[in-house]
Parts: sequence; C-alpha cells; structure tokens
Amino acid sequence: MKNIFILCAILVTVSCNTSKQESETTSEHPKNVIFMIGDGMGVAQIQAAMAANGNHLNIERLTTTGFSKTSSSSHTITDSAAGATAFSIGVKSYNGAIGVDKDTVSQTTILEYAEKAGLATGLVATSSITHATPASFIAHQPYRKMAEAIASDFLKTDIDVFIGGGKKYFESRKDGQNLLDSLREKGYKTVFSLDELGKLVKGKAAVLLSDSGMLPFAKGRGDMLAPASMKAIELLSQNEKGFFLMIEGSQIDWGGHMNDIDYVVSELLDFDNTIGQVLDFAEKEGNTLVVITADHETGGLTLVGDNIMQDSSAIHFSTTHHTSVMVPVYAEGPGAGSFKGTYENNTIFSKLMNALSLEANN
Ligand code: MG
Ligand code: ZN
Repeated sequence: MKNIFILCAILVTVSCNTSKQESETTSEHPKNVIFMIGDGMGVAQIQAAMAANGNHLNIERLTTTGFSKTSSSSHTITDSAAGATAFSIGVKSYNGAIGVDKDTVSQTTILEYAEKAGLATGLVATSSITHATPASFIAHQPYRKMAEAIASDFLKTDIDVFIGGGKKYFESRKDGQNLLDSLREKGYKTVFSLDELGKLVKGKAAVLLSDSGMLPFAKGRGDMLAPASMKAIELLSQNEKGFFLMIEGSQIDWGGHMNDIDYVVSELLDFDNTIGQVLDFAEKEGNTLVVITADHETGGLTLVGDNIMQDSSAIHFSTTHHTSVMVPVYAEGPGAGSFKGTYENNTIFSKLMNALSLEANN
C-alpha cells in the first residue's frame, strides 16, 4: 500500500514536470510566426494615426515592445532593401541589396529556412510583390531595381502564397518568358482579383492584383490588405507544421516620401486594421507569434502643437527621404519576450529563427 502511494506520488510529480516542460516549450516556440512590416513607420507616424483614430490603435494590443536600430552596412540611413534583408538573412547589407550580404553573396532567408523545415510560407504586400521589402525574403539579387530577375527567383522556391502587385514582371518580360505559365505548371493557382482570391479554399496561390505597383488605400486599393492577409493565414494554417508569413504595409513609406500626412495616416490605419484582424486570429489560435516593426522611419515627421487634426502647421516633415532614428518593435504571443530592449535590426532574424526553432547554416 505504501509502495503504491509512493508510485502514485512519483507519477503525479512526473506528469506535473512533463506538462510544465511542455507549456514552457510552447511559451517560447510558437507554431506560427506572422511578421508585419510597416515600411517607413516611425513612432510619429503611429502617433499621427492614433490622433486620427480617437487616440487608439490595434497596435497597442501588443504588450511587448522594443526598439530596432536600422543602419545598413553601407549607410547610417538604410533603404528598404537593406532594411528587409537584415530581417531576412540576419546580417546587415548595403542599401539596395536583396537577400545578399555586403559582398553580394546570396544568403538563405528566414522564409527559405522555414520552407526547408516544412512550414508553409507566404508574403503579402501593398506594393508590387517584387518590391524591395517582400523581395528580400525570397529573392537574391545585387540590386533592388532588378524586378524581372526578382520575379524569376519566386520560381526557385516553394512559397505557398504571395499576394501583391507586379503582374507585368511575371508576364510581360524582356526575356519573353511567361512566369505565370511556369507558376501554373508548378501547381500554383494564378489569381488576379480579390474576389477570385476570396474563393480559394486550399493550395498554392500566386495572387497579382495589379500590373506594377498598387494604388494607395484612399485612391482605389481600398480594403485589400486585411482580406488578403486573412486569406493567406487561412491557406497557410492548413499546414500542420505551422507557417511563416510576412505582411507589409508598403505605402506608409510612400506617404512619408511625399510629405503627405493624409497618405501616411490612411496607409497606417489600413495596416492597423490588418493588425487587429491578425491579432484576433493569433489570440484564437493560441500558438502564433506576431511581431510588428518598421525597416526605417520616413520623412523625419514631428508633431508639434495641440491638435494635429485641426492644425496642419502642427505637422512637420524634415526630409523627403528616410531617417536614421530607431523604430519600434511590437511583439505578442509565444516567444515575444525576446523582443524587449534595444538591438540592431538584423538580430530580429535570429529572434524569429529561435522562436521557430530554426537553425541558420549558410
Ligand atoms: Mg517596402
Ligand atoms: Zn522609402
């Protein structure tokens, strides 16, 4: 009887330890990672969108915050290619680099590592899908303007879903190749409208919603980023091993370059609406890490005066280019803790890789 009691006590202890270990593993290693980039989204841009939205945004729902230092290997002020490449390959490279290091050598991206490990992968952007930010996760080219070469690199991967503009770089090319045919031969559905996208229920999808770039939210693109992102999540979630998805609010940056606060705010609110829906998914799913940051700030935006909504003189841009100031990082979900603090942009790669238990072995 005494022996049985001891045995029971041991079993209880063992089972307690096991469940504790499991919950610790779960707490640090999510099944899915959704990495969201607001291109050009500094704290002043976020503040301006808050002011326009009753002083609140969905981005405030993320409870872990940090700062990312954005310089590239060639410049104190990064461009979007070097910014995204730091995230995607884990080393700082030169302005213009797409998935290559400072010596133009191709380096495996986090999306490619995820793919090799059996995770489903996806990219969603409100620019051409061959534009610097999404391109840096999937392509390896010495210079960002090589849109047709970047489009060809999509065929060298097994990415499951990509959604953005840039159809002409796949279809009407100088080399005469029709990459849409090649994608269909590889098993992709090729989709050219949001309506068609909404009808997809499974499988690989190449979704090209415009010929080159995409229109601004306020000038015809409308509510595309949120439904496209949620459809990508729906398709990628079908993979039992999990997924890696990058979602970009591409045009916050373009508003900054134009020193157009309405453009900045409408793009940021569109991005934030997407953030809300992504967080709803992540909360329900329970094992998804959401990380949101920017590649750099654009416009040197400052807000002075009491009411930026009523008083346009309270809004100052100091440049039509990017700036070198740190940008915020927000994280929520299993593994979010490693995003606290102040760190270089390229360490976001290793934090995301660690979260997914992926090992870099270039
Ligand atoms: Mg971009
Ligand atoms: Zn820019």
